[in-house]
Amino acid sequence: MATTFGRETQVQFVDLAAEYLSAKEEIDAAVQRVLADADLVLGRDVALFEQEFASYCGVEQAIGVDSGLSALELILRAYGIGPGDEVITAANTFIATALAISSVGATPVLVDVDPVTYDMDPAAALAAISPRTSAVVPVHLYGVPAEMDAIKDIARRHGLLVIEDACQAHGALYRGERAGSLGDAAAFSFYPAKNLGACGDGGMVVTNDQTVAERVRMARNYGQKEKYYHQIQGYNKRLDSVQAALLRVKLRRLDESNSARRGHARLYSELLHSADCALPVAPEHTEPVWHLYVIRAHDRDALRTWLSNEGICTGIHYPIPIHLQEAYRNLGYRKGDFPVTEANADHILSLPMYPKLTSELIERVSASCRDFCRVDQSLAEPSSV
Ligand SMILES: *Cc1c(COP(=O)(O)O)cnc(C)c1O
Repeated sequence: MATTFGRETQVQFVDLAAEYLSAKEEIDAAVQRVLADADLVLGRDVALFEQEFASYCGVEQAIGVDSGLSALELILRAYGIGPGDEVITAANTFIATALAISSVGATPVLVDVDPVTYDMDPAAALAAISPRTSAVVPVHLYGVPAEMDAIKDIARRHGLLVIEDACQAHGALYRGERAGSLGDAAAFSFYPAKNLGACGDGGMVVTNDQTVAERVRMARNYGQKEKYYHQIQGYNKRLDSVQAALLRVKLRRLDESNSARRGHARLYSELLHSADCALPVAPEHTEPVWHLYVIRAHDRDALRTWLSNEGICTGIHYPIPIHLQEAYRNLGYRKGDFPVTEANADHILSLPMYPKLTSELIERVSASCRDFCRVDQSLAEPSSV
């Protein structure tokens, strides 16, 4: 018997090729121009992209770097955060947020997330402040802005820096202001699958702080302002021109692709309304960009297998919380320390989400989720059948 789906009818989790093809001519021309000019590292396109991205975010300074992790790390270094400092961040985030903090020698202090928005719980952040705390790093997880008013208020009262991890939130709005313009400085990633993605690694630091901008600018480029005059011991963490040229093309389409994601999220939420799972919620004063559309299901693993058998690819962001990772055993956390984060790790499921996703595919994914819930329920309540 033939399988119920062929390879061509698989529902991908993301479709980067479709995104490329939709802007192929412009992207190819931009990349070829860089190659023909041989203006390859920190060239004209990097400078232009920095200006365009700063203006998009509503900030004065943008500094292109080689990844989101580097962006976070260079911000922390520029503020002089290091050994002896504690930096508070959310327990449910990509490992890079914590790695940036530990890479400068500071201690990541994790706090639990809000059960509804999955973002940092401001009350938990407040409770985690110690005399050593120097900064708080809210993460706009899945493209939903963190509760910045409360976090900034806490930071102001305790003299802490606010550094946004905006790596999943290009273009998201909080009370009408862009992610990246909400704290003292912010980090973006241009990893290919992000809302604004390069054809390799890339990242950006944005800030209104001229001093910090200048330090990051030097640090990313061997600690020099002028070639061969090294003022600080720097790094090679530069953005290259091919990435910048491609990102300039994609930045012009970012609002459009984010609005497509919003439409997809709305449709998922309508169609999954009757399914027995928790749907993602964004606070009313935010305009999220749905980097991921994450639901919560009782029997997540069974649902994931069910969808997989129907040719639907899904993800889990993230299956093992940072405090339970081998790499961070030294922090001394234990299972049970962050109940919301731990429950999420067992129940969350990211459904296919990308700008070129179609209504037809969303309907197929949603119908499949509803079917699963019906079967799952009838298994759970055998007396009712
Ligand atoms: C992707 C990501 C990063 C790291 O970005 P890279 O470019 O992969 O280094 C950091 N934080 C969050 C929340 C991310 O999603």
